[in-house]
Amino acid sequence: MRLIVVTGANKGIGHALVKHLAAESSSASKIILTARSVQRGEQALKQLESETRSNWNPKTTVSFHQLDINDNKSISEFSAFLDKEFGKPCIDVLFDNAGWASMGSLLTADIASTTINTNYFGTVAFTEAMLEYMNPKSRIVIVSSILGKLNAVSKELAEKFSSDKLTIGELDGLMIDFVEAVRQDKTKEKGYPSNAYAYSKVGISAYARVLARKLKDDQRGIFVGSCHPGWIKTDMGGANAPHDVNYGVKTPLYLANEQIEKLYPHNGEYFSECKHEKW
Ligand code: NDP
Repeated sequence: MRLIVVTGANKGIGHALVKHLAAESSSASKIILTARSVQRGEQALKQLESETRSNWNPKTTVSFHQLDINDNKSISEFSAFLDKEFGKPCIDVLFDNAGWASMGSLLTADIASTTINTNYFGTVAFTEAMLEYMNPKSRIVIVSSILGKLNAVSKELAEKFSSDKLTIGELDGLMIDFVEAVRQDKTKEKGYPSNAYAYSKVGISAYARVLARKLKDDQRGIFVGSCHPGWIKTDMGGANAPHDVNYGVKTPLYLANEQIEKLYPHNGEYFSECKHEKW
């Protein structure tokens, strides 16, 4: 019985991930659908049950728990829930799916700060809190983006992000400095891109690499991967996207289900179209 946690699962790719995981016949799971809004999360679970329950693996269960990755209290309450219900360690697959993007190309200090706080700092805070709950041979699947490939930033920044010596503290610094540069209208001067979303996703893919390196000597053999789900029709991806959510779940599910021994050579790396790809 696998324990699976999905963040931002009240809609979009996260919601579809829960739907597909519940239907998997190869392994029964306890799936925790999380959302920052209790109302939207409970409603999403109800909708899933009424529309798809007949397709679920009969041994699989899906439950809801509130989780706002930008709220330390919410993360602590989620940890306390895991302690009470399952004990440590317990998680087999953690999908870091929650994300935020502003519509349009406007870059303000508020947009930069919300984007970086959600896609980078929130994801890192939640993942770090979950590390002690990860089972042996478990997986952390970080939904990043093709927009967060290294070519989104200057050569100098790309060298920093891809350094094998980069620490989480230094990575945090690169994120904070970007927000500060936007606030001071100095992005061009400091060589930062004008797209906060892309920059946040460069940061979170870099975090996957740093985390895999940090866990290298951990006996549990945890796999960490970042991935691009494709350009998907969701509230974030928009109506013009070429693919639906059933396509968007393929690469994240590949990282959850592929034999872990086959994934280990690429621990920490970036995946797209169900395969390892140069970041
Ligand atoms: P949606 O906007 O449909 O869903 C985003 C989800 O994240 C929502 O459930 C949202 O909750 C949740 N969320 C936002 N902020 C927080 C937070 N602080 N705490 C918890 N949950 C939060 O987007 P998608 O389904 O398209 O995106 C899912 C992931 O895929 C994201 O990481 C995105 O960056 C990535 N991605 C998407 C692509 C696409 O084309 N769609 C392409 C590449 C990457 P709420 O409803 O409350 O806002």
